[in-house]
This record gives sequence, C-alpha cells and structure tokens, in this order.
Amino acid sequence: MRRISIFGSTGSIGENTVDLISRAPEEYDVVALSGGRNINRLAEQAIALDADVAITCFFELKHKLAERLAGSGIEVAAGPDAIVEAARRPADWVMSAIVGAAGLPPGLAALEQGATLALANKESLVCAGELLMRTARDNQAQILPVDSEHSAVAQALVGEDLAAVERVILTASGGAFRDWPLEKLASATPAQASSHPNWDMGQRITVDSASMFNKSLEVIETREFFGLEPDQIEVVVHPQSMIHALVGFNDGALMAHVGPPDMRHAIGYALHYPERRSLPVERLDLVKIGKLEFREPCETRWPALRLAREVMRIRGLAGTVFNAAKEQALDSFLAGQIRFTDMAPVVEEVLHAFERDNALKCDRLRLDHVTETDHLARIRAADVAAHLNTDA
Ligand code: NAD
Ligand code: MG
Repeated sequence: MRRISIFGSTGSIGENTVDLISRAPEEYDVVALSGGRNINRLAEQAIALDADVAITCFFELKHKLAERLAGSGIEVAAGPDAIVEAARRPADWVMSAIVGAAGLPPGLAALEQGATLALANKESLVCAGELLMRTARDNQAQILPVDSEHSAVAQALVGEDLAAVERVILTASGGAFRDWPLEKLASATPAQASSHPNWDMGQRITVDSASMFNKSLEVIETREFFGLEPDQIEVVVHPQSMIHALVGFNDGALMAHVGPPDMRHAIGYALHYPERRSLPVERLDLVKIGKLEFREPCETRWPALRLAREVMRIRGLAGTVFNAAKEQALDSFLAGQIRFTDMAPVVEEVLHAFERDNALKCDRLRLDHVTETDHLARIRAADVAAHLNTDA
C-alpha cells in the first residue's frame, strides 16, 4: 500500500485528488489530510479514507474538528506547525494543494523526509524555487508538477533531451475578462472575476486567471522547475483550454498536450507516474470541437505578464516579494479596497521598492529569510493599497 498525504484536501485540487484515491482505496494508506474552515468536509474525508491524522490550519477550529472525529481513532491537530509536523510523517506521495505561500513549509518538510511531492502549489516554486529544487536534490526526492501546463510540458519531455528544447509555450484561457473592453476592467467586481470560462477552480486562482497573475506565476514556475531561460518561455492566449502547453524542439517540432480542462488528468498522471492508468476524464471529440484559436496576450490588458519577466531578471528574493505582494493585492481586491486594475500597480510598486532598497539579492535561499521577506512584502503591499486613494 502506498502511504499518501494530501495538504489542502478540502480545496478544488484536494477534492479532485480525494476523488481519484477514493476509486481505489485498497491501494492507499492515507497518513494526513489538511484543510481550513470546512471542518465538516475534512472530517468526512478523514473518515472515508481512514486517515491517521486530520489537521485544520485554524487553531480555533480544533475542538470542532475533534468533536466531528470523536470515537473515530483519527488524530486531530491544528495550526501551521501541526501541518508541517504532519508533512514530516513518512509518506511515499504527498499532494501539495494548499493555496498560497503557506504551502511552502509543508512542501519542504515532505521533501526532507524523501517523499515524492506532487506540486499543485505553484506559489512554493515562485517564492522559493531555488530552495525547493535544492531540497529535493539533497534528499533524492522527486517533485512532480500538477499544474496542467507543467504536467503537459513534463509529459512532452519524456524521453527527450532538455538541451534540444528551444522553447515552451504555455497556453492561457484569458480568464473572465478576456473579451471585455479595456476601459471596463477598472469596474470589474470580485464576483465577476471569480467565474472562469473553462475551469472550475478555487476562488484565488480563478481571479488570478482573470488578471493573468496565474500565468505570470506559471512562467516563473516553468523557469524554476525546468531550468529554462526566460526568453525560452512564451505565453499564448488559447480560449478553448484544450491545449495545455507545447514544447518546441530544435528540429522545429512542436509537441502539444491536448486534453479536456479537468485537473484529474494532471493529478492522476502524478499519482501513477511513471505509469499511465485509465482516468475518469472526458475523451475529446476533435470534430465536435472543430477549431482551436490562438491569440497574442496583450500586456496592456494583462500587465502581470510583464512583471513576471522582471522577477526572472532580478531573481534572488524577487519571486518571494512578487508572490507575497500579489497575495496581499488579491486580498485587498477581494475585500473591495482596491480595483481589479490596481493589483498589478501595487505589486509593481512593492517589487521596485524592494529592489531600490537592495533587499532582493540572495543566492542561496533559506526558509526563515523567505518567510521574513514574504511578511515584509505583505505589509508593504497593504500599505501601498491603502494609499491608492481610489474610490473602489
Ligand atoms: P482552494 O482554495 O480550492 O483550496 C485551498 C486549500 O488550502 C483548502 O483545503 C484550504 O482549506 C487550504 N488552505 C487555504 N489557506 C491555507 C493556509 N493558510 N494554510 C493551510 N491551508 C490553507 O485552492 P485550489 O484551487 O485547490 O488551489 C490549490 C493550489 O493548487 C494553488 O496553489 C493553486 O494555484 C494550484 N492549482 C490549482 C488548480 C485548480 O484547478 N484549482 C490548477 C492548477 C494549480
Ligand atoms: Mg495552470
């Protein structure tokens, strides 16, 4: 039996992972599940999968979780440190599906004990790519990408020599406001930004898709994970979300990964890797689809794409600051404090302020340093957002 843990099990990626595991429970010994406010669902999952321990990231919800799990024999814990402690428990395969930089410490702990890390939490690679990749190498642990684009690239690279890769093209749906007139974007509400044309995902990544901060995180993720140069990574808008990514080789060939927009493919590929197993995803009818479109991404509409290039130019702690400022700007937008179009300027201002202060230089990242910088960048971003003086 394979020992597995799922961090962020109650979220969109977490639920899809639980769905796949639940189809063959006899194959898995579930060690830990973690969630947030949704205690009922976390308890339900823990009982159904017979987990050893269930953890909520909120201390104040521990007793509620304990009540739900009373008599089950399942251990209960709460708080960020308890999640890290659970990630240290021996497991063969760990799903990192917490949203945001909070996913970094448990991801590192899982790698340190040698587990294979299925990485949906792209923020870990953006805020501490060098540290995460080094921790994997030092512990001979493997990271398998779960973002659909990066899973697609990894699949296109099987049996290939990375030196023969000229470029990687990430596709982007364009999100909720792809076809909105530019002048209307400033009035976009959180509710409007929270609906995605093709994918059913958590709220934060859905809004990040509308702003393309998600794609900018993914460009950085591509650089960190595959070690490509920034100018080898391209983005193309592809409204149908059928092609997830393409890899271009030095002989002119482009290998495209085509599939329905269903995260269970990328999760299932990482779960069964290096085997391929049958997965419960739709089989595409190409004739019915008829045609696929591709457009150039407009950086006036999506300034986040330009910021990703800056982060890759600066390196060091730029990814940490970029991600933290982005998370804070997103919180401010969701709270109605700033406009949709204010998010990128807030992030840009924070990034440049840290650069001016010479606070981004670093060759060898350490977790405490990353955590501290993340904290300071959030404070700065909240401050910039508060002084924007908008009538949002
Ligand atoms: P979600 O919001 O649906 O779920 C997030 C999970 O993390 C929940 O279980 C929540 O309780 C938990 N959580 C939230 N904040 C936490 C904190 N501070 N500490 C501990 N746990 C916390 O998010 P999601 O859409 O499933 O995304 C999860 C990750 O996967 C993100 O990094 C996202 O970018 C990435 N991802 C998601 C999709 C998708 O289809 N949803 C696709 C690609 C990548
Ligand atoms: Mg993606």
